Amino acid sequence: MKIPASLPSILWIISVPCSAQTLLVGLYDYSYLSAQEMIRLTETADRAFAHSGIHIVWSHCRGALAAVPGATCEGEMQINEIVIRFQPGGPRSSHDGRLGHTMVTAEGGYYASVFVGSVRAQAAGFGIAFDLLMGYSVAHEVGHCLLGPGHSYAGLMRGEWNRKDASEISRLSLHLTKQEARKAVARLTLAEGAARR
Ligand SMILES: [Zn+2]
Repeated sequence: MKIPASLPSILWIISVPCSAQTLLVGLYDYSYLSAQEMIRLTETADRAFAHSGIHIVWSHCRGALAAVPGATCEGEMQINEIVIRFQPGGPRSSHDGRLGHTMVTAEGGYYASVFVGSVRAQAAGFGIAFDLLMGYSVAHEVGHCLLGPGHSYAGLMRGEWNRKDASEISRLSLHLTKQEARKAVARLTLAEGAARR
């Protein structure tokens, strides 16, 4: 059958999902956060990724907002999907004073943990709201999943936040650098392209 020249490009447009840079994040809360804390921390993480070109779709798989386990949490993981666990307490190793951890290769990863006890203590130390720092800690680990293990000298992906960063967090103005955002979007686009082949 001869296909008119214009048809393939029309089909291509139809088959490309409009959410090309969507990231699915499954949340598993083992630290008994309240529904309000869960809502606020996801809203905060959304703000951290605003203007980055990445849209996060959250699934509450365990915790206050988890419905009856649904297909979104039980099915096969998607190529653009990651899992974040909220662990009570801090990191297991005393050498690791960080607020979270992501299992990563140079390209990125799929499984991250946020240490809720450490975040709570650090938020109190900075004098900022707990759910605010939780949101940014989640966003930082999402960043590792998309960018790999490295840290930057400024912004969301700094290795350790100081008081200046904390004041940017309280103004919701800590983000990926432009270069990091481009890299993260490219990785998601590549993954989705590979999944379609
Ligand atoms: Zn980090």
